[in-house]
Amino acid sequence: MLNYVVSGDAGICTNVDYLTIFRTAFNYSRYGTIRGRMNLKLTYKGEIYLNWDLTADEQLIRDTVREFAQEKVEPGASARDETGEFPWAIMQEMGKLGFYGLPFSEEWGGSGGSTISYALAVEEIGRVDASLGLGFAAHVSLGCSPVYLFGTAKQKEQYLLPAIRGDFLAAFGLTEPEAGSDAGGTRTFAERDEDVYHISGTKIFITNAKHAGYIVATARTDRTERHISSFVIPQGIRGLQVTANYKKMGMRSSETCEVFMDNVTVPHENILGEPGKGFHQFLDILDGGRISIGALGVGVAQGCLDASLSYSRQRKQFGKTLNHFQAIQFKLADMAMEVELARMMVLKAAWLKDQHRPFAQEAAMAKLFASETAMRAALQAVQIHGGAGYMNDFPVERFMRDAKLLEIGEGTSEIQRMVIARNLEPKD
Ligand SMILES: Cc1cc2nc3c(=O)[nH]c(=O)nc-3n(C[C@H](O)[C@H](O)[C@H](O)COP(=O)(O)OP(=O)(O)OC[C@H]3O[C@@H](n4cnc5c(N)ncnc54)[C@H](O)[C@@H]3O)c2cc1C
Repeated sequence: MLNYVVSGDAGICTNVDYLTIFRTAFNYSRYGTIRGRMNLKLTYKGEIYLNWDLTADEQLIRDTVREFAQEKVEPGASARDETGEFPWAIMQEMGKLGFYGLPFSEEWGGSGGSTISYALAVEEIGRVDASLGLGFAAHVSLGCSPVYLFGTAKQKEQYLLPAIRGDFLAAFGLTEPEAGSDAGGTRTFAERDEDVYHISGTKIFITNAKHAGYIVATARTDRTERHISSFVIPQGIRGLQVTANYKKMGMRSSETCEVFMDNVTVPHENILGEPGKGFHQFLDILDGGRISIGALGVGVAQGCLDASLSYSRQRKQFGKTLNHFQAIQFKLADMAMEVELARMMVLKAAWLKDQHRPFAQEAAMAKLFASETAMRAALQAVQIHGGAGYMNDFPVERFMRDAKLLEIGEGTSEIQRMVIARNLEPKD
């Protein structure tokens, strides 16, 4: 039951129906004040709608991850981009610090299940190193989430708990040579043989797969269309081969792998959830993953803004620093506005997910807008840096190469637009 005290010029809106439009999750402080419509001043205790403040916990998590990112991640980001070195030691430390448990319940090794906190954490890592941000997001949203959402208690104990601790990473094998945007067209096949499945097929572009303790892989379990199931494939199992030979434009220190399964035999208990539910499962997983890729886009765009502000305050031409030229100021203003808008969209999608409300449309919009914001911000950041922006002495050329992936991975921009348009039509 809500507990409100209402005061203001009218005192006419004391009925609960009117007041309930202000309800929202507000757990930062038990008391607070908002100015609502009609200049009403509502003093409330409990929950209200429309509050833009982060909770104390969320602020603490954001600040902690920001500090970690600046101290531990940023210093080596450029060198890792050059060598392609995978930051395994940093990723292990992130697990120990509890970063991977942010969106999961305490029962399963998490810290309470806040998608908002998790999105803030991905943003802060992505702000200094998008490759590491991608590894983080793929581990949590694509690798851990399927086991968390659809796994049995035994599967969670065996796979999820160590993954959340950072003992190993987790990967999600959906994409195949013939099944990209149309992921339902998977050719990987799992043949049932009494209590086991024999799985054969190839997955491509799989993030984290070499350092993964397990890969959640989709496979057809019937000759009929879209009868797909998800399996937990443990690393090291006979018939599984993982290679990481791609030479990439960006995200160079993120691990991208090919996964070959040649008659990999797993017990029936390695299936996730019910047989044949894999198609709907991966749609759910991708909805959640889009929030994290959106958060990564916000991080990259913010990183571009940070670098551009700093450079424009130092670089002098025509006797003035660049930030005195209106042409540069307008670029900075547009970048700041889009970063803010993208962040709000990501946080709204995360908030809806935390409220257990439908969020697929908002997640697609947030992913689409934030990834395209990152790309635009990176282009402008390079422009603001002039020739220096084309050199790898500054992080903006790395951000530009990294940002491109955000418009492709976990559903291209074209696919996001299709999802959004489909959701605009009435449901059958
Ligand atoms: C670095 C990296 C990491 C990745 N990590 C993972 C991972 O961890 N797990 C995983 O499973 N996958 C992963 N992927 C794969 C990624 O999700 C796919 O690349 C992406 O979904 C696009 O599929 P595709 O590459 O086959 O492109 P295609 O589907 O071949 O698309 C090519 C072009 O056609 C467009 N197109 C396709 N269909 C339509 C349509 N119906 N209407 C209009 N346009 C269309 C696309 O938008 C795109 O522009 C990763 C990819 C990269 C590059």
